[in-house]
Amino acid sequence: MRNWPKNQQRERVQLGIKIQVDAVAMQKLWLWADMAKGEFSCLGLVDDIRDANTGAVTALIVTDFILIKQQSSSDETELDPAAVAELLMELETQGIDGNKLRCWCHSHGDLSVFFSGQDDRCIEGLANGEWLLSLVVNKQRDSMIRLDQFHPCHLYVSDCVFDVVYPQVDGLAEACLTEFKAKVRESQNVFCRARRNAADRVQDLKIAQERGALTMDELQDEIDWMGFDYDELETPF
Ligand SMILES: [Zn+2]
Repeated sequence: MRNWPKNQQRERVQLGIKIQVDAVAMQKLWLWADMAKGEFSCLGLVDDIRDANTGAVTALIVTDFILIKQQSSSDETELDPAAVAELLMELETQGIDGNKLRCWCHSHGDLSVFFSGQDDRCIEGLANGEWLLSLVVNKQRDSMIRLDQFHPCHLYVSDCVFDVVYPQVDGLAEACLTEFKAKVRESQNVFCRARRNAADRVQDLKIAQERGALTMDELQDEIDWMGFDYDELETPF
């Protein structure tokens, strides 16, 4: 059996639970990755979102990254246990549950992203009897996220699909709606809210194409993008 090279990314694995990183947290990470000469590491706070009925975890969201005191070089970064303990105390005084520190993140500087033997040992050292997310990034904006499960046995998925989520800003949706209503006038004969089925939406696009707003190719792309089944359309193309 062929051994897959460690520094070559495979197709990412789509888990049954969503993994997400807050956009502002991600931005902090890229800024630190740019500032660092080589490696650095930080810890992330993770919220687990559960299904209200079953209690099962449906999503893990990294809400923030916290930089802690460390000694790092071009190809090595070490977390100082005393600094981690200090951070836990700090979180406690802020009323933040230290149990939320469930993401270890580090940058490889200019090198590719992968989990080295040393990274494996670091993750084993952080084993908490439950689960841990690990994220590795580099200056080229490559990233790889890994989910380790420590109970009932240690197993991990080394490259999971994840996405970046924009934080909710209080009042933003209302402000956008007010501005939209004030400035955008939508023609009712083209976009009728009641017409939501596939054939009608395609019909809207056809009208738009006929008045020159879309080329035939763009029309086709739009229909493909909406993912409609051609067989289900009343007036197939
Ligand atoms: Zn590493």
